[in-house]
Amino acid sequence: MKYLRSLLILVGLFLIAFIGFMLVKTMLVKSSQSTVASIPPIEVSPDAKKHLAEAIQFKTISNLDPSLIDSTEFAKLKSWISDTYPMVDSLLEKLIFEDYAHLYRWEGKNKDLAPVVLMGHMDVVPVPEENLPFWKQDPFGGVIADGDIWGRGAIDDKINVIGLLEATEMLLKKDFQPERTIYLAFGHDEEVSGKRGAKMIVDHLKSEGVRPDFVLDEGYTLTKGLVPGMDKQVALIGIAEKGYLTVRLSAEVEGGHSSMPGKETAIEVISQAIYRLEEHPFPERISYPVKAFFRNLGPEMPFVNKMAFGNFEVFKPLILSTYRSSNAGAALIQTTMVPTIFHSGVKDNVVPLKANVTFNFRLLPGDSMETVMAHLKKWVKDDRVSFQVLQYQAPSVVSDDNSWGYEQLDKSIKEVFPNTLTSPNLVIGGTDSRHFQEITNKIYRFAPYQLTPETLSMFHGLNERISVSDFDNAVRFYVRLMENLGD
Ligand SMILES: [Zn+2]
Repeated sequence: MKYLRSLLILVGLFLIAFIGFMLVKTMLVKSSQSTVASIPPIEVSPDAKKHLAEAIQFKTISNLDPSLIDSTEFAKLKSWISDTYPMVDSLLEKLIFEDYAHLYRWEGKNKDLAPVVLMGHMDVVPVPEENLPFWKQDPFGGVIADGDIWGRGAIDDKINVIGLLEATEMLLKKDFQPERTIYLAFGHDEEVSGKRGAKMIVDHLKSEGVRPDFVLDEGYTLTKGLVPGMDKQVALIGIAEKGYLTVRLSAEVEGGHSSMPGKETAIEVISQAIYRLEEHPFPERISYPVKAFFRNLGPEMPFVNKMAFGNFEVFKPLILSTYRSSNAGAALIQTTMVPTIFHSGVKDNVVPLKANVTFNFRLLPGDSMETVMAHLKKWVKDDRVSFQVLQYQAPSVVSDDNSWGYEQLDKSIKEVFPNTLTSPNLVIGGTDSRHFQEITNKIYRFAPYQLTPETLSMFHGLNERISVSDFDNAVRFYVRLMENLGD
């Protein structure tokens, strides 16, 4: 009895000490945010919004098969750019690749400084006919209504192409010359691989020996309400993107008749394989970009969340379960897999001899085709199943979040968007910028407009639009960034 009491007291004291330790640790958590003073709003021409609306009217829909694109729409956008931005067109060096991809070179004052590449893509995804009735405005009408610029490309990605052109034209009008050379790179097939646009641009830069200090492309944005536990506006800067792998699993079995079937058909063999894989997902793992994300935003959170991040190892299971609970969160902490195509069977009374399923994987930094294939073979454990890799893109390199380039982005964001926190993060989709890995190891993925849980669905979705004030701010951001790209 006495012993039990002493033990309880001991446990109690230990708990108090432990909680005290965690509280002290929480209070010692320091913000890693830079303090940057905001600047007064830069004046943006009232024509800027009209320009974005006009650019949306060109149906620059890309297609994997280049013979299926409407080349007149791409040609019209190309000549519209020349007409609308006469100073950009005449004062910058311009190169066109595969008829439509644009590369502008804006010579800097100081030739010793490595150049910077600012990207956007001119193509858009289609609007399926059956979705048209759900659009409140014509997706290619270029309508400005209720303070919004409507249409396909408003956020993906004409906002960046037009924002960059608008900023450059504005600065040229003021006789501004950048300190270091700036390239503007606009591909025309990002939505279908970027092999004819961005890739050709990179091949050219590589042949010229250009080694950019950094590259900026789309990927993340300003966010509000998208980071769990955070109500301030957060600018996420993608410092890496996940890899992409598609594998087909096929099975072949002996024939038979449906009136006296064998033990297992090909469908059952493949179903078993799918089941075993679903039972054995890839282990959860915090990659460097996500670790940096926790480190940058943890200290900014309300006390309870801050305590969790301040005592990460203790609260790791809780933090992981919060991220696991949403699809987007789960994708940040795991190599994901999903069966996307299934084929088998031809007739109701014929036993299928063959079946196959196609899986799509998105790989965390650190994973590779080899690690995924090893996982598949380990858990499928069936010699009748064969594997065929259909497509592979390794995870990107992880860019330095302590570099000069990152700092300029952080500074420009905070100058133009007051009360905004910044943080690195991992991009779960793919962007054109991956092609630039051949010539630089610093690629940042950030577009200067806000996304919320409500507007997230506009991506490749319905009623894509951007508010006029958000677009003006995007132009301001690019102006400021170009001014900040000195030394
Ligand atoms: Zn895009």
